Amino acid sequence: MSVQVLAAKMAEVELKDELTPESPLTPKADDKGMVENEPKATSATTPTMEPMVKTGDTSPGFLTPNTKMPQASAMKRTDPQQNGGEAFVNRDGTVAEAPRLKKIQFADQKQEFNKRPTKIGRRSLSRSISQSSTDSYGSAASYTDSSDDETSPRDKQQKNSKGNGDFCIKNIKQADFGRREIEIAEQEMPALMALRKRAQGEKPLAGAKVVGCTHITAQTAVLMETLTALGAQCRWAACNIYSTQNEVAAALAEGGFSVFAWKGESEDDFWWCIDRCVNLEGWQPNMILDDGGDLTHWIYKKYPNMFKKIKGIVEESVTGVHRLYQLSKAGKLCVPAMNVNDSVTKQKFDNLYCCRESILDGLKRTTDVMFGGKQVVVCGYGEVGKGCCAALKAMGSIVYVTEIDPICALQACMDGFRLVKLNEVIRQVDIVITCTGNKNVVVREYLDRMKNGCIVCNMGHSNTEIDVASLRTPELTWERVRSQVDHVIWPDGKRIVLLAEGRLLNLSCSTVPTFVLSITATTQALALIELYNAPEGRYKQDVYLLPKKMDEYVASLHLPTFDAHLTELSDEQAKYLGLNKNGPFKPNYYRY
Ligand code: NAD
Repeated sequence: MSVQVLAAKMAEVELKDELTPESPLTPKADDKGMVENEPKATSATTPTMEPMVKTGDTSPGFLTPNTKMPQASAMKRTDPQQNGGEAFVNRDGTVAEAPRLKKIQFADQKQEFNKRPTKIGRRSLSRSISQSSTDSYGSAASYTDSSDDETSPRDKQQKNSKGNGDFCIKNIKQADFGRREIEIAEQEMPALMALRKRAQGEKPLAGAKVVGCTHITAQTAVLMETLTALGAQCRWAACNIYSTQNEVAAALAEGGFSVFAWKGESEDDFWWCIDRCVNLEGWQPNMILDDGGDLTHWIYKKYPNMFKKIKGIVEESVTGVHRLYQLSKAGKLCVPAMNVNDSVTKQKFDNLYCCRESILDGLKRTTDVMFGGKQVVVCGYGEVGKGCCAALKAMGSIVYVTEIDPICALQACMDGFRLVKLNEVIRQVDIVITCTGNKNVVVREYLDRMKNGCIVCNMGHSNTEIDVASLRTPELTWERVRSQVDHVIWPDGKRIVLLAEGRLLNLSCSTVPTFVLSITATTQALALIELYNAPEGRYKQDVYLLPKKMDEYVASLHLPTFDAHLTELSDEQAKYLGLNKNGPFKPNYYRY
């Protein structure tokens, strides 16, 4: 069953009350498929090229009125390593701003799992793990750290109550607690619960063998259980060595899932867990759900033959998507891939709302700071910066913004923030927050000039934004005052408060809102359904964006939570705007 048929069924069954009898999500009778055009490689574009918005007919599916069906669009990016990561070209010829990408290094992973590291060795290994696996996002907090139990899960023989032992987690006894966490998450993940209900016994993922590598949290558990309800078998590993909620992993194992993950894995453990997911006699995955690209990379490196049976890859993160584009560019991508990261429902929700909701939580949990009247400088006014600024402003903080891009700078000004250079305010601010995705935004010179008690933290992808290494000099004293909170003390007694050693604050020190993750997880589920059910030839060995109509569908599934009533276009209005009443409602280049 293709995703639009599923969407149609669901829309018919449940959405008709909310979205009128002829739901905009119900495909029309003549709708044939997701893709009208083959993906075309667009020529590389340099950042200096004038952005252009084509209204011509190069890609009729996107831009002409009355577009029939959602289409996945192939998108070729110019190599950010060559062009500075500034621009990419959409299939319709428009030039869009690319996510800022850092250079990806494929670490030469160890596979000699028998050479087990000692406990100390494990710790040091975990410090050297590839950045993608330590820096991506998700709900990080686990309420059961179990740090008192030092035995490695790899040394334990555990079975669930049904005698199944095909998993490796911290402690199966935490399953009941984890189940409660999952049930709480379900309440904030309406679209996934609706997908389960609305599939009405049909199994669009029957026969799908999904191997996943994402944060193992209550929200992921809801996704995994949804995929299973839709017919899939799942094996899962964590994409981050710190973010696994042990109790949730236990609940999943108790529920029969083959989960290989625990909080505080070493690098060796990390790859061992991924390997246990894919290297199993009598079971081969046919779908990949990845966050960061490590799983995909591992299969490419160790089990390339598996790709003969794999129907597609769904990738969530900036980093993983970048890896896929690299493979595609090198002609090595051997299956179709869906880029979920650049879906509107990911980028415009996860980045903005997730940070707006979690910045205060991360700061409060670590420092108990009061926000009212505090002077804060936020570096970068992209989606993440906008979210942070909005939250701090609402709490009565005095917020300054730094930017390099005049457009985002103007947005900051018109939103009522003072645009400054960091050196103009560095002496007076109480809190410094980086969200640029860049490197060396806060360097030692600025750290030296900060006032006593200044809090310094990062909300960007990697720990490159604050030059933490420059603080590891003999004259400075480090004092660990709380978990993830360091005081760095200057010889004159001045101290700054460094959070999470410059890593993502919300990932490291707080949780992120389930509802936002629901939007991303629904997009992932639909991408899996679409790739799995697509007829031969619909997707080539390329990277695709989910169609805009699918984004609209994901959004619509979340509207009932707010008792939101969507207006329907009249025939006259639809004609006037040149739109199909059923959507999509915006052209592909629309920026929201
Ligand atoms: P974005 O590209 O929309 O915004 C970044 C902004 O920083 C841009 O406007 C850019 O002009 C500006 N900038 C770059 N260098 C700068 C500098 N030296 N000084 C001041 N401004 C500078 O990206 P985004 O979506 O806001 O994401 C920002 C970072 O946060 C990325 O690394 C992203 O991966 C990460 N992210 C974090 C979370 C989270 O939960 N913490 C969620 C999503 C994304």
